[in-house]
Amino acid sequence: MTGPIIEAIKLEHTYVRGTNKVSAVRDVTLQIGPREFVLVVGPSGSGKTTLLASLGLLLSPSRGVLRVMGNHIADDQRTRSEVRRAHFAMVFQDARLIPYLSASRNVEGALSFRRLRRDVRQQRARDQLIALGLGHRLHHLPAEMSAGEQQRTGLARALVTDPLLLLADEPTGNLDSGSSSEVFELLRSQVAAGRSVLMATHDLGAVPYASRVIRMSDGRVVADE
Ligand code: ADP
Repeated sequence: MTGPIIEAIKLEHTYVRGTNKVSAVRDVTLQIGPREFVLVVGPSGSGKTTLLASLGLLLSPSRGVLRVMGNHIADDQRTRSEVRRAHFAMVFQDARLIPYLSASRNVEGALSFRRLRRDVRQQRARDQLIALGLGHRLHHLPAEMSAGEQQRTGLARALVTDPLLLLADEPTGNLDSGSSSEVFELLRSQVAAGRSVLMATHDLGAVPYASRVIRMSDGRVVADE
C-alpha cells in the first residue's frame, strides 16, 4: 500500500449540548500514511481525543471529508463501524478489559467479528499475548495483573485483529515511566511490522519514538512536523 491510510480534509467536530456548542476540532486537514508513528500533543481540552475519535470513525464529523485508503467514508454508523473493524484498532488510558474474563479470553473477544474457528481464535489470542511477553498471564484475570500488564493485554486485544492503524488515546496515562517506555517500544515495533500508529499523549517521553508530531491548540493543528 502506498497511498495514505487516512485523509482528512477540513474536518470539524462540534459538540452540541442544548444551545451550547463546542468546536473541539476545527479545519483539520492531514494525512496519515503507512508505517508512520504519529503523536498528537497539546494541552488538555485542545481536541486530541476528539480528533482521534473522528479519524478512528468513532465520531461522525460535523463537516469535512474523510477517506480511508482512498475511499470516501459515508456518514452512516454502519459504514463507519465496518471500516473501523476491518482496518483500525484502539487502545485507551484504561485497558477496558472485561473484569471477569482471563487475559486470553479478553483478547479472543476482539476476534468475535471475524469468521474464524474457535480454536483458531484461541490460538491467535495466546500467540499475541506471548508476543507481548504475557505468556505467564494467559489465564489471569485483569485484577491479578499489574497496570502495565493490563495495558499490554489491551494492546494484545488491539493487535490480534491485525489492524493497519492503531489509535491510542493516552495509553500510558496510568503507567509509571518504565511501563510507559515498554508501551512506546511496543508501539514503535508495530511500525516495523508494517502498521501505523496514531497516539494522543501528554507524555513527552514518547517524542523520541515517533516519526511525526502533530501539535493541537484550541481544536486546530498548529504544527505538524
Ligand atoms: P483533549 O483530548 O485534548 O483533552 P478533547 O477532545 O477531550 O480534548 O476536548 C476538546 C473540547 O471538546 C474541550 O473543550 C472539551 O470540553 C469538549 N468536549 C469533549 N467531549 C465533549 C462532549 N462529549 N460534549 C461536549 N463537549 C465535549
